[in-house]
Amino acid sequence: MFSHCAAGSSLFASKGILPSTALRTAIVSSGNREEHVICVAFETRHTVSSDGATLALLPLIAFARKVRTVQAGWQKTGGFCMKVILAQPRGFCAGVVRAIDTVERALAHGDGPVYVRHEIVHNRHVVDDLKAKGARFVEDLADVPNGAVTIFSAHGVSHSVEEEARSRRLNVVDATCPLVSKVHKQGQRYSSLGRTIILIGHAGHVEIEGTLGRIPGPVYLVENGEDVANLDIPDDTPVAYITQTTLSVDDTRSTIEAVKKRFTDVIGPETRDICYATQNRQTAVRDLCRHVELLLVVGASNSSNSNRLREIGSECGVPSYLVADGSEVDLAWFAGVATIGVTAGASAPDVLVQDVLAAIGKAGPIEIETLDGVEEKITFRLPPELLEAS
Ligand code: SF4
Repeated sequence: MFSHCAAGSSLFASKGILPSTALRTAIVSSGNREEHVICVAFETRHTVSSDGATLALLPLIAFARKVRTVQAGWQKTGGFCMKVILAQPRGFCAGVVRAIDTVERALAHGDGPVYVRHEIVHNRHVVDDLKAKGARFVEDLADVPNGAVTIFSAHGVSHSVEEEARSRRLNVVDATCPLVSKVHKQGQRYSSLGRTIILIGHAGHVEIEGTLGRIPGPVYLVENGEDVANLDIPDDTPVAYITQTTLSVDDTRSTIEAVKKRFTDVIGPETRDICYATQNRQTAVRDLCRHVELLLVVGASNSSNSNRLREIGSECGVPSYLVADGSEVDLAWFAGVATIGVTAGASAPDVLVQDVLAAIGKAGPIEIETLDGVEEKITFRLPPELLEAS
């Protein structure tokens, strides 16, 4: 990353900082901030002229103490520096950003208390942060006073929940992710064509409860090929499959194949309809697992997509752990490990990734890099109720 510079090296040596080779290696803990400081020191080194006449001493001396700290840690570990590789992309998707923005905008609007049905996204840190800002989270609409501002979470709700809100005259702002709404519409369209719906997803997940409650005709929930084989409907029934958004193309492939193999008249959405964020994060973690000896997935235990990322790590043969934040990192995991991969579920904020990096740094100096991957530029418009109100 940094080229050798003789003038810079002797300057550093004369200031008692570090030989340049050591500096190259000792990119150190506590997340991006210290890493940035070291990088600036390198940049400064390259501003030194060959005769040493134009020395940028002030910034160098300012960085010297920090660099010595780095050196001390580096020497303590016998010069060993763990590499941490971040997956790209990782963390927040467009649907999660939109859902959190929705709550924050509703709070800023200031028209009385703001109720949110279910965790707006599956992350305790995000929920606690919004609670601290005034949001009130409920699982049941019965706990919302008539007429109050009520936000539906990114996972979507059933038709009956929507009806209940309407009958109670709740002031609803629907933060259902547009990609979840798209699955609802697919199911409704297939159902209106007289087809029996096969929904591929996890029983009990809040998104699945919402989707099941959105489709008027017969719907069967399956998780795998075995469930498909056990469906108690004739093989010539016209069927259509739809999928939970936190399952990727790879996750659903074998189940869809089982549906197509068993039934004679099957239709389903194009592959491109699968949630881009789920697919991108899973592809990135598979790629990451080719380069690391251990994987940490930052995410909540009730986050379906985070759990799936951890499972993929294990399927790739890499010891994989799901951690909510740095406090759940066990340094014993790193014994004999030189390269650690880190990713984050779609509902995990970057502040938690930084917290986990800082926790890893307690094991010794670390060098952080990001694997090449997809740069996501997708954004979703805020719910129309908010746009109309602003
Ligand atoms: S993971 Fe996909 S479907 Fe779920 S909120 Fe994010 S963008 Fe929407």
